[in-house]
Amino acid sequence: SQERLFNFAAGPATLPESVLRRAQSELFIWRGSGMSVMEMSHRGKDFKSIIEKAESDLRSLLQIPPEYSVLFLQGGATTQFAALPLNLCRSPHDPVDYIVTGSWSDKAFKEAQKYSKPNPIWYLHICANETIHGVEYKTYPTPLNPNAVLVADMSSNFCSKPVDVSKFGVIYAGAQKNVGPSGVTIVIIRNDLIAQAQDVTPVMLEYRIHAENHSLYNTPPCYGIYMCGLVFEDLLEQGGLVEEAAKENMVQLKGHRSVGGMRASIYNAMPLAGVQKLVSFMKDFQAKHA
Ligand code: PMP
Repeated sequence: SQERLFNFAAGPATLPESVLRRAQSELFIWRGSGMSVMEMSHRGKDFKSIIEKAESDLRSLLQIPPEYSVLFLQGGATTQFAALPLNLCRSPHDPVDYIVTGSWSDKAFKEAQKYSKPNPIWYLHICANETIHGVEYKTYPTPLNPNAVLVADMSSNFCSKPVDVSKFGVIYAGAQKNVGPSGVTIVIIRNDLIAQAQDVTPVMLEYRIHAENHSLYNTPPCYGIYMCGLVFEDLLEQGGLVEEAAKENMVQLKGHRSVGGMRASIYNAMPLAGVQKLVSFMKDFQAKHA
């Protein structure tokens, strides 16, 4: 069929139509460069302008303070479950705190057990929005210990509303829900936390290496970064993360296989018409079955 469906998937998720059409128009030749973004050298000036604009637009959207680095990485949010304790802890004996509110924070907690001792305060890890269980923090905890570092997995609510970045040591998110295709993982980290990682840390998981090389240590997911850049630009053109966008992003279609029930993932790019259709469907269903 040539008709686009209303896609309520949890991720990969629906993207703004304007962004897809723009990417389509630039797919074959990107802005007079003579080639597709997929074919460009990641070291060339064209790709450099793409990644730099993506970063500066994201900085504007989230008002990221200058003392934070923005990294465009690979491996999904799941890779960050290991990268965080490897980079933030000096040894596997360092104590850390994890609040487990659902499957994703539980996975993060289990991975951290290999590289740290998750429990008393060193840093506190939370999942800002548990995509499967639907548990979202409306306000974020402020650790009592001023040296404690708040780390948040924002995979499913990244750029869905304004956030005070300065409250966090690290924010990370897979791009494939609100801001782009899968394959790009965004890490926003306060620069003083970019220190010596544990000796066993694979080079691809070292924040210092990626920060020093501006996310170009090796070949980055170039096309995905370009797509994220188009989404950031589109969000800025719409006025940024205004309060409207902050209103409830989630209602409960098909639940995750592990918990059942119903779930509708309505990320930023879901058009109003899609939501209206869902609402009227639910009302009809209720009227028929009440
Ligand atoms: N954390 C959260 C909150 C998620 O929703 C997901 C994916 N659904 C993940 C982590 C895992 O992300 P990835 O597939 O990018 O590794």
